[in-house]
Amino acid sequence: MAFEPVIGLEVHAQLKTKTKIFCNCSTAFGKSPNANTCPVCTGMPGVLPVLNKQAVTFAIKAGLATNCTINRESRFDRKNYFYPDLPKGYQISQYAKPIAEHGFLDIEVDAKEKRIGITRIHMEEDAGKLIHDPLRGKSMVDLNRTGVPLIEIVSEPDLRTAAQAGAYLRKLHTILKYIDVCDGNMEEGSFRCDANISLRPIGQEKLGTRTELKNLNSFKNVEKAILYEIQRQTCVLEEGGQVIQETRLWDPAKNRTASMRGKEEAHDYRYFPDPDLVPLIVDDAWIQTVRAGMPELPDEKKQRFIQEYSLSEYDAGVLTAGLDMANFFEETIKPLKNIKQAANWTMTTLMGMLNAKGIEICDSPVSAHAFSKLLGLLESSRINANAAKTVFEEMVETGKDPEAIVKEKGLEQVSDQGELEAMVDEIIKENPEEAKAYRDGKTKLFSFFMGQVMKKTRGKADPKVVTPMLKSKL
Ligand code: ADP
Ligand code: MG
Ligand code: ZN
Repeated sequence: MAFEPVIGLEVHAQLKTKTKIFCNCSTAFGKSPNANTCPVCTGMPGVLPVLNKQAVTFAIKAGLATNCTINRESRFDRKNYFYPDLPKGYQISQYAKPIAEHGFLDIEVDAKEKRIGITRIHMEEDAGKLIHDPLRGKSMVDLNRTGVPLIEIVSEPDLRTAAQAGAYLRKLHTILKYIDVCDGNMEEGSFRCDANISLRPIGQEKLGTRTELKNLNSFKNVEKAILYEIQRQTCVLEEGGQVIQETRLWDPAKNRTASMRGKEEAHDYRYFPDPDLVPLIVDDAWIQTVRAGMPELPDEKKQRFIQEYSLSEYDAGVLTAGLDMANFFEETIKPLKNIKQAANWTMTTLMGMLNAKGIEICDSPVSAHAFSKLLGLLESSRINANAAKTVFEEMVETGKDPEAIVKEKGLEQVSDQGELEAMVDEIIKENPEEAKAYRDGKTKLFSFFMGQVMKKTRGKADPKVVTPMLKSKL
């Protein structure tokens, strides 16, 4: 029997507020344990939560950017469970009435567009962190993260492959960074994902039993874990077994998932409205203000790049996949004319360098301004492409100005007519047999002569000047 995978993702994104969601403690990462705490976020009896307005504005922004309806009234509920990193014994979340619902995202995989439904976006507070000390057999609690505002974005079970899940996740990540509500840092846990996976016989409507995968802390791991889980469930079903509904942990070292605990049901949490918080009312004016402040979204930017800069669909997609890269590119091409050339250099030479170094564009040793200057030298034929590559490498190494490197290394293109003409005459004179053969129709020899010119100028002759000159003289 053939099975079809069904995947739904739950993404937790940390909102970029300065302070926590229900108190005014700082959200800064990396502070000494429990430095960012107060009676409210450590769950002392009798304290009252006060909702952070900025967190709501960010949640609305995320809802609008993912085509959701913003609920004019939503409310906060208590999700009850016991764990040492949750001092109150409950997490404040939104259950029955989330801030936003019924949205979607369009993804593209293998040149095919697919619309992925977004069930809901709700706001909640993060829990703390346990730090285990195996040496002393002790665990310690750090509550700095307790009460940090999160949104949880829940997708419909519309995804069918690991690649689609990866594309959805990347798109969502890009959007949240574009609208500047989440820093997207996966290592620091600002953007985390759980994946729900089930299989069903092809053609069957009813969903199969799912497992939920946790500890997926990179895009690659999400895809690898899903692929593994699809395979594991296929084996279970093919052997006539049943998938058990459970939570499984991805082990990146062993490249497999392992059972962690039985999957809890919503009623296990005994959700109920938090009596300390009044319903959250969002009026039209608030939504309008957020809408008015919405920046250009990835899809819009891509379309503009195609239209304004005549880039291909593919190039525009690559250049707008990250906001920092898109900004770098637009900064680069400001003074340039040859946009296509700049796009090629950005996607091959610049991105190649970033990949090799394993760094992001914001840490590039070559600034947009310097990169633009380099491409300007290429555009005005002051240097040729070969020399530009050399200059770029030197810029990466030393951070020097491209103009200075060209001067220092004597890389300027020879395009002086007189100088080149004398050289061409000399080369033809030195190679009479080849010249005769060329004239007799062996036009392939043209590249031989071009090679001689390049040799004499150590690669610095301007082909645009030399080509017609050689042709006419030959
Ligand atoms: P929870 O995991 O908190 O119990 P939900 O029931 O809302 O919450 O489901 C969470 C995610 O699991 C959603 O993204 C949903 O699309 C997905 N999902 C639900 N049922 C299945 C299933 N049978 N197979 C795959 N994904 C599923
Ligand atoms: Mg879940
Ligand atoms: Zn606090």
